[in-house]
Amino acid sequence: MIDHQMTKKILVTGGAGFIGLNFIKHQLNFTENIILNIDKLTYASNKNEINKLKKNPRYNFIKCDIAEKKISNIIFDFKPNVIINFAAETHVDNSINSPNTFLKTNISGTFNLLNNSLEYFNQLKHLKKNNFIFYQISTDEVFGDLGKSNKKFNEYSSYNPSSPYSATKASADFFVKSWARTYKLPFIISYCTNNYGPYQNKEKFIPNIINKLLSNKKVEVYGDGNNMRDWIYVEDHVAAISEIIENSIKNQSYCIGSNNLIKNIDLVYLIYDLLSSRVDIKIKKQSIIKYVNDRPGHDIKYALNTKKILNDLNWKPMYNIRKGIHKTLEFYLHKNSFIS
Ligand code: NAD
Repeated sequence: MIDHQMTKKILVTGGAGFIGLNFIKHQLNFTENIILNIDKLTYASNKNEINKLKKNPRYNFIKCDIAEKKISNIIFDFKPNVIINFAAETHVDNSINSPNTFLKTNISGTFNLLNNSLEYFNQLKHLKKNNFIFYQISTDEVFGDLGKSNKKFNEYSSYNPSSPYSATKASADFFVKSWARTYKLPFIISYCTNNYGPYQNKEKFIPNIINKLLSNKKVEVYGDGNNMRDWIYVEDHVAAISEIIENSIKNQSYCIGSNNLIKNIDLVYLIYDLLSSRVDIKIKKQSIIKYVNDRPGHDIKYALNTKKILNDLNWKPMYNIRKGIHKTLEFYLHKNSFIS
């Protein structure tokens, strides 16, 4: 449980998306913080869920693109202590097919948000300056591919992005780091591994597996299916972010992960096992996978060394992969709704 030190005003961008929405729910449930959510409401957003949040007096929403000029007025009116940037185009396959939107949101949008945050920060009085952070949500994908090596990336690893998505995320991080060094804007960057859990878009791997199996269809797996990822249950990720914010950490970066490394094919079989123990799946286990041509530039492996956050903060992941998938299945089976 988080120690309530000071009520903060947190401006969240992309809070209608998968992780942003889970972060806002966590904040409203476990802190007294006041939240303003800014989202462009793209196809990836959970419009119904954010409408339900409107009843909460500590929550407000403005539909806005982070690349728009009006971001300036929004920041100056709300007067946040924390600006946290989840807003992004996030699906690697889409970035390969149409990278332009990724450039606009992930690079130009972050640039616009940073510039306006700096303008706001510069006019704050001493104490308020001390309490301000710009928090950029990054990804382990900026470090690139570990291949077959047993190494793990950490906060000091060099960037080596492989996809248009990760290149735009890396670029955004460089702007944040340079704004911090050149203009002294207080910042946090956290790199997280693959997330899963409630409210994730159907295009992403785990909801797609669940959806396909529930429809008795084969799951398409890229290449030989041996690509490995470390999967973190979204509640663990947003708890880590909340802990960083609550401790007023600044000018640091953190790797967030949960040591749940698993091959894509093994993940499909695990989900099949856990799902078929609850519902009747007609398709046989040995025929659930359809191997398809590999994604261009597909990274073989991502893994993060999370010693820094484990040592510095009162946080550790609470979900192993079975427990996390179990909770995720519970959500999708009860809600019976996938956003697509
Ligand atoms: P998502 O695609 O589910 O949601 C993105 C949200 O951002 C949507 O609500 C969308 O409407 C909004 N958005 C898009 N463009 C916008 C713009 N120009 N202005 C305002 N809002 C805009 O994404 P997610 O999976 O929740 O990821 C959130 C953040 O976490 C991203 O920055 C992503 O790079 C990072 N991340 C994700 C993962 C993961 O596994 N999902 C892992 C590590 C890091």
